[in-house]
Amino acid sequence: MKNVVAGVDIGGTNTIIGFVDSEGKIIAEDRLSTPDYAFADDFVIALDEKLREMASGLKEVNIAGIGIGAPNANFNKGTIELAPNLRWKGIIPLVRLTERRTGLKTRITNDANAAALGEMLFGGAKGMKHFIILTLGTGLGSGIVVDGEVVYGHTGFAGELGHMTVAEGGRVCGCGRRGCLETYASATGLVRTVLALLSDRRDQSTLRELKSTDITSRRVAEAAAAGDLIAVEALDQTARMIALGIANAVIFSSPETIFLFGGLAKAGEALMEPVRRYADELVQPVFRGTFKIEPSGLPEANAAILGASALIWKEMK
Ligand SMILES: [Zn+2]
Repeated sequence: MKNVVAGVDIGGTNTIIGFVDSEGKIIAEDRLSTPDYAFADDFVIALDEKLREMASGLKEVNIAGIGIGAPNANFNKGTIELAPNLRWKGIIPLVRLTERRTGLKTRITNDANAAALGEMLFGGAKGMKHFIILTLGTGLGSGIVVDGEVVYGHTGFAGELGHMTVAEGGRVCGCGRRGCLETYASATGLVRTVLALLSDRRDQSTLRELKSTDITSRRVAEAAAAGDLIAVEALDQTARMIALGIANAVIFSSPETIFLFGGLAKAGEALMEPVRRYADELVQPVFRGTFKIEPSGLPEANAAILGASALIWKEMK
């Protein structure tokens, strides 16, 4: 019998399920349509059936447990709490529901903490005790690892660097406050910076020809690569804000490496180089030269499943 862990990534549209072996290889993959299930109980029944179906297609496979990555998940309590992009309202005890239905050990955490665990077991952070991963997507998620453990804190919601205040009285954030890091240092933040620059400056820019709703981080990165002044400036300001977040985080936990992951990180060296330069400038001198900033070592397509499965694999190693 070969042990596998079911890595489950719950998103607003799709739930991706993969059987992951101890080397981080995905040996089977399938999906469920998340919004088809009005209640979490129905979802858990469907998940249980899907896991059986997937296992029956393979021979000699034992499911050792289920690791789940989900928005607003609380590792300490095994719950999903007030997730705006899911139909399941309130506080959902998903770990208890899943364990009762499947009889399998289940753990849950949010996407960024899952990414951190995936990085630690299967990616660029193998053997590292202290590191941080920043997921630069629509928002800014983060997983902080100290002494080989993800930081969850007393409430289970610790380590969300995206909501550190970096500009008091600054941009309005979805969390109800102002000036959070993610309002600047994310794909959405980059677009907000472009819109501000377009109204503040008179420089020619191909981005002026687009409707504001058509301006995306990818378009901005392309325009910057073509030398567009507004796009170059917006990427530069975004890099500086990411670096400011990193400089603050380094003081907190002194990581060996900060990994950048997600849509915005795909801008590659165009983003990585200024982030490194600004982080070096902004960090407290005692930490200068003590940390690296690198792209994530996880394959983007499978990162969520690998990360979710790492919740269980970590406990088995
Ligand atoms: Zn916020």
